[in-house]
Amino acid sequence: MQTVTVLGATGSIGCSTLDVIQRHPDKYRVFAISGYQQLDKLMKQAKQCAARYVVLADERQYDDAVQKAAQYQVESEILCGQKALEEVASAPEVTTVMAAIVGAAGLLPTLAAVRAGKRVLLANKEALVMSGALFIEAANQSGAQILPIDSEHNAIFQCLPDNFQYGDLPASGIQQILLTGSGGPFRTRDLATFDAITVEQACAHPNWSMGRKITVDSATMMNKGLEFIEACWLFGASVDDITVVLHPQSVIHSMVQYNDGSVIAQMGNPDMRTPIAHGLSWPARIDAGVEQLDFAKIQALTFDTPCYTRYPNLKLAIDACASGQAATTRLNAANEVAVASFLEGKISFTQIAQVNEETLNAMEPMDVSSLQQILEEDRRARDIAHGLVRGLI
Ligand code: NAD
Ligand code: MG
Repeated sequence: MQTVTVLGATGSIGCSTLDVIQRHPDKYRVFAISGYQQLDKLMKQAKQCAARYVVLADERQYDDAVQKAAQYQVESEILCGQKALEEVASAPEVTTVMAAIVGAAGLLPTLAAVRAGKRVLLANKEALVMSGALFIEAANQSGAQILPIDSEHNAIFQCLPDNFQYGDLPASGIQQILLTGSGGPFRTRDLATFDAITVEQACAHPNWSMGRKITVDSATMMNKGLEFIEACWLFGASVDDITVVLHPQSVIHSMVQYNDGSVIAQMGNPDMRTPIAHGLSWPARIDAGVEQLDFAKIQALTFDTPCYTRYPNLKLAIDACASGQAATTRLNAANEVAVASFLEGKISFTQIAQVNEETLNAMEPMDVSSLQQILEEDRRARDIAHGLVRGLI
């Protein structure tokens, strides 16, 4: 029996996680769930999964949460604030933590789970992008098992050999990691019309149903850029070990190419319950409630090379990855500000990449290693990005 904390339960990944857990009451019980807004949804979830704790990220929500809990006859204990998130991620009773808070907000609770040696199901890619070295070192020290939930990284994990050696891909016979991406809704749109892209258009992903931030990141391909950085940390790969491949159908979720000419791909319908179930049950397999892939219905699998003029954010991320931790932390922070500003109607779609690039250019290269430095660079980059956004309004 695994005892699970679901951080970010009210989100897209959180809901899919509770869906898989509910299918296997003999294998998983819920210790805690967390949310940020959407109190009604959180309380309904708490009631349904009988969570022992319900955690709200913001302390000011405590009174509202207690009132809502009474309204929904929820018996869970209500906790609030950052420390509480870290506590339910690291409590001794907990075996498994789903890290599904979006953005930098997920870093500290995810790190708390890693430091406590949990099985960490990592959806929150921004946490790894910000703190990769620290994160991997903490996992090595505590013995935490990081299981990738991002569909591409979960696919790569499934395609790796049993004797995989972290940080030495050639030793495992690996030539390349092929990171696939659909290219989002604007893969074939006329570049001259990119300034006119609306929030609604950017939030309509052709294949996946996800939270708004990652959906916009998929449209700019910053998501693939963050995933590129994420893959480097998860598999000890260098920038030259990974190639991004456009694959509009999202049937292949990524591939590993070996030196004997073999390519191993993981396929499936685009449903996050597959990687979530894989992470929960690894090395076993469980029913995820996902419809099986029907090859009679697949007309074609096509592939292409991404163009950096169309996807400048992808290039920024790969360059930041080569540059190091300060650049990746700053890029992630700038991008969170830029995407939020786009969603609020303050800047245009193309200005997201502009804010990101100008934020990076405004900051001197430096080495960061401590958590404190990472948080400081995150804050500085956000300040600069906010200033740039104000200049654009
Ligand atoms: P979402 O927006 O649907 O949900 C985000 C969750 O985080 C919600 O529960 C929300 O309440 C919580 N949250 C938001 N701001 C918070 C804050 N400041 N403090 C604490 N909690 C906060 O997002 P999602 O699509 O579920 O994505 C979650 C994470 O998983 C992201 O990092 C995303 O990149 C990653 N991911 C998602 C998918 C997907 O299919 N949705 C796929 C791969 C990776
Ligand atoms: Mg992904």
